[in-house]
Amino acid sequence: MKLQRMDTLLRQAREKKIALGAFECWDSINIQGIAKASSLTGIPVIFQATPVEYEPMGGAAALVHMVKFYVDKYNINAALHLDHGSTLEQVEDCVRSGFSSVMLDASACEFEENARLSAEAAKIAHAGNLSFEAELGHVIGGDGGDGAESALTVPSEVVEFVKRTQVDCLAVSIGTVHGDYKGKPELRLDLLKEIASLVEEPLVLHGGSGTPIAQLHAAIKLGITKINICTDIHKAFLAGIEEARKTLTPSVPGNFYRPAAQMMTEKTVEMIRLFSTGIPQD
Ligand SMILES: [Zn+2]
Repeated sequence: MKLQRMDTLLRQAREKKIALGAFECWDSINIQGIAKASSLTGIPVIFQATPVEYEPMGGAAALVHMVKFYVDKYNINAALHLDHGSTLEQVEDCVRSGFSSVMLDASACEFEENARLSAEAAKIAHAGNLSFEAELGHVIGGDGGDGAESALTVPSEVVEFVKRTQVDCLAVSIGTVHGDYKGKPELRLDLLKEIASLVEEPLVLHGGSGTPIAQLHAAIKLGITKINICTDIHKAFLAGIEEARKTLTPSVPGNFYRPAAQMMTEKTVEMIRLFSTGIPQD
């Protein structure tokens, strides 16, 4: 099965009024788990990685080979996306290596610079027939927070940004955080509603982990079509390793990964199902 453009999969998901999970990739065990979860649920999936994750694997091309292998093995519909690319060189590298989608994240910059860099990256992506994601507003990263420190997306900038960048998928900042929340998550659904009324491009939510499911369902109903999950599957994987340490000696590293793979796969199945069932309809 060929890797598909991410925006194609997201538009199909939007028609079905569901969202797709985009899961962070860091090794072949976790990539196989994501592929299995997609196969078990029958729902397309987005594999994504930042350079920090794919460089230790041997670079962008190594990740492409790995993901394609499991996409074929499990016969699933999937995209492979560069998450949080920070330079045009990284975008070019992923285009050359065979990704089907890329993000350049210049969201920490002022509007003008974000729009300029995003437009340049979009040109590179489109020349290779890849879809392109950029972020307007800034979801804070690293050590979390309660979302209040993030720069929220300003609705009056959205139309201009989409027009100037030719972005295919727009990441918005509506109160989520990267990593664990420090306080109580409270998504700004009012903002999302306004943004969704202005553009037709699929909307992306970064920092999905730890967000109450009722808020995620409300966000999907209003137009969020891609939900990024990193922390939740990291935790499931590491919990599996901890489990193994209680009973196994470290003589065969492969044995340590069995419970980790299983727990991460189960968590991925759970998230894919949460994003595709029980969403309130009108
Ligand atoms: Zn992110």
